[in-house]
Amino acid sequence: MNKQLQTGDALLIVDVQNDFCPGGKLGVEDGDTIVPVLNQWIAQAETHQLPVFASRDWHPLGHLSFSEQGGPWPEHCVQDTPGAAFHSDLQLPKNSILISKGARFDKDQYSAFDDTGLAEELHKRGIKRLWVGGLAQEVCVQATALDAREAGFETLLIQKATRAIDAKDGEQALKKMRDAGVILQD
Ligand SMILES: [Zn+2]
Repeated sequence: MNKQLQTGDALLIVDVQNDFCPGGKLGVEDGDTIVPVLNQWIAQAETHQLPVFASRDWHPLGHLSFSEQGGPWPEHCVQDTPGAAFHSDLQLPKNSILISKGARFDKDQYSAFDDTGLAEELHKRGIKRLWVGGLAQEVCVQATALDAREAGFETLLIQKATRAIDAKDGEQALKKMRDAGVILQD
């Protein structure tokens, strides 16, 4: 793993929630295997006193993204349900900054940057570079990493800390991110 974390960096962990892990409503195969990897990165971030941001999908009942409402996904990550909780082995620091998304009735939010104020919060803390991991690679991780580039942050995707729902879509997502200037990190 890379030890080059430095001042001006932050760790951004996308949607490592029970519903996106095996056994969850929208479980990503081997999704839970990224947790120990992320824990190593969290430990590094803490050693360097760098902020850790964690996003979560946080839907109200009857959200428009659910298939019963005509959306693309089965019901998942309903607010205050066990499925919406972070994976219990994920060792988020107590001072992690939580980003809730998907709570609006009028639209879904795949990206942790989408109308959440995250870019402003990062600027306020002098963050220039983001290390990104989480679930799922071709959905919320891709959207978040692309928006991070759009917002002008140097962005690294920790490949061992993300998993795709579909292998082919995952590959395409990697290409898209690389084309947008995201650095793919082992
Ligand atoms: Zn969702």
